[in-house]
Order: sequence, then C-alpha cells, then structure tokens
Amino acid sequence: MSNLYQKYIFTPGPVKMYEETLKLGSIQTPYFRNEEFSKVVLECEENLLKIANAPKGSRVVFLTASGTAGMEAAVQNLINKDDKVLAINGGGFGERFVEICDIHNLNAINCKVEDNLEDCSILNKYKDSNILLINAHETSIGTLYNLDSISKFVKKNNMLNIVDAISMFVTDDIDMINQNIDALIISSHKGLALPPGLSMVILSPKAIEKVNPKHQLYFDFNAYLKDGQRGQTPFTPAVTIIFQLQQRLNQIVEDGIEFHKNKAKEIAKYFRDEVKSLPLKEFSSFMPNAMTTLTPIDDKSAYEIVQVLDEKYDCIVAPNGGNLKDKIFRVSHMGDMSKEYIDKLIDALYDYYKLKRGQV
Ligand SMILES: *Cc1c(COP(=O)(O)O)cnc(C)c1O
Repeated sequence: MSNLYQKYIFTPGPVKMYEETLKLGSIQTPYFRNEEFSKVVLECEENLLKIANAPKGSRVVFLTASGTAGMEAAVQNLINKDDKVLAINGGGFGERFVEICDIHNLNAINCKVEDNLEDCSILNKYKDSNILLINAHETSIGTLYNLDSISKFVKKNNMLNIVDAISMFVTDDIDMINQNIDALIISSHKGLALPPGLSMVILSPKAIEKVNPKHQLYFDFNAYLKDGQRGQTPFTPAVTIIFQLQQRLNQIVEDGIEFHKNKAKEIAKYFRDEVKSLPLKEFSSFMPNAMTTLTPIDDKSAYEIVQVLDEKYDCIVAPNGGNLKDKIFRVSHMGDMSKEYIDKLIDALYDYYKLKRGQV
C-alpha cells in the first residue's frame, strides 16, 4: 500500500498538479512586501482577466482561503439587506450559497432546480430579484448550467450576476463579457491545479461599484481593491501558491485557453467511452468537461466502489454523502491528466467488475 500522496488522484479538488507546480512548491517562501512580488501579483491579475474575458476596468481580489471563502466574501461584499437575491440551488454547493445568505441575514430565495437551466422560464417568477447567485458547475452531482441562457435572463432583468466558477474554470467555457458575469469566483485547487489555499474573485466595474462599505476586516474588498492597485494584499497572501499561479497562468495563456478546455474535453470523452461497457451509467445529462458522475446500474454501492478503488487500486475518486452516498461517485478530469494516467482508473474498474477491457 502506497502513501496517501502517492495515490492516483481523480477528485474534483485537489487535482493532479503539474511538474512545474510541484517544483515551485519546494522554494523558500520569500518576503513579499516589495516591488518584485507586486509585479507577480499584477501579472496574475492581468492573465486572469484575459482568460476570463473580463470587461475593461475589472479587478481581481486575491484571498488566502479556500473557495468557500470566495463565495462568502462575494456575498458579504456585494449584497446588502435591501437586495433581493435569487440563489440557484441544484445541490450541495447551491445549498451553501443559500446558507451563507441565511447566516448573513440576507433576503434570498432558495430556488431548487433539477436541470441545467437551458430553459430559464422557471426563474421568471423571481424576476424582481436584483442579484443572481449560481455555481456554474454544481460539483456535488456534476451538472453544468447553461450560462448562455442565464446570461440572457440576468441581462433582461438587470441583475448582478455572481457566478461560482470554481470547478469549471480552465476546463469549460466561461466568458465574463459574453455571459454577462459581474463577479466570478475561482479557487486554486480545481482547474488551476494548484494546492488549496487561494481563492480569487474577479469583479466587473459594475460589481466594483456595488461593493459594500467596510463592515468586516479580513474579507473587506475595499482594502483588497485599494492595495491591489499596486499588486499587494492587505494581509499575508499565499505567497508560494501565487508563484505557482503565475507559472500556471503564463502556461495557459501561452497554450491558449482553448487548448486546455479541449484537453479536458478529450480526457472526459475518452473516460466516458471506455467505461461504457461497465455496469455504470452517467448520472447527469449536463456534464462538464471537468468531471464525470457515475451511478452503478447493478446492485453495487457507489460508496463501496470508492473504497475498493482506494484500498485495492490506489485510485482516489470522490464519494458523495447523504442520500447519494450509495448512488453516485465522481471522477475529475481537471489538472495534469493524460490518457495513460486515467487508464489506471479504467483498468481498476474493469478488474473490480472482473470484466476484460476492450471486449463488448
Ligand atoms: C470546491 C468547490 C467550492 C469550494 O470548496 P472549498 O472546500 O472551500 O474549497 C465551491 N464551489 C464549488 C462549485 C466547488 O466545486
């Protein structure tokens, strides 16, 4: 049995990191209150704005925290008591937005949905809301919402569109200008394939105007926007992860974002095709390139499959909790994936079912 960190990893965060990222992880953390580090942060901001196709005048807030902090900080800074919030809830992460609004005593509609909102007409009864909260990819079940339809809905009803793109940035289509997105929340350990600990919120000029006056310390966007002008953060940033981010973003810009989306798409297709002859079926009809959600069609428990894959084959896939525990498991295609790497998992699944791969 190998060590925890030597296993094959297919979870939707953390994901398999690139060699270059791992190398940078071993550096001595340098001091950061200087011009040299400011340049690194400003370069990251510029590349993020480019990749997200953010409107002119957009800015990035760099938070030292995991993605949920990005969600909570966006809610705290962009929503106040007078706002009417429409929170899309298609699973665990939608539920989290609702919970954040509740904790902060904000007026939010908990809008439970079951499809990908290609047809937004079910939202029409909430069109007097002025803020939309949505997770572009509801990672708990693997549903990618139709951001183009949603974009028309928010534009028509003049809403501030706050999108958690944490688990689809880099692997799936996202475009702040064309999809009318005002705040885009991303984090380090999903598609960007970095260690956890950094969350970023990209703000359009419209969102920047909406930022609430200071009413908290650590997550006050006013302070981040002010210090960010010179490439600094109000508090100690995740310095090493920012160096790793700089490297990743330069690579993504050099390769072109299409290259990375296509790569994830190709890996996802390869995996889905290869497991077709197993007694597993795709759980969602709206899967992103980032991840595949599978459900056993025989009487096997999804949770048991997850455990055996770990214990016997050193492959870590993501289990679910609650009433989906025995029903589904999730396989990420984010990060440094290759066909050879995911073959380990495909072979493990065939061995587990005592079936021969390549035979129909
Ligand atoms: C992973 C994820 C988050 C952040 O979760 P953390 O545990 O805080 O990193 C938020 N939203 C979505 C959709 C995610 O997939």
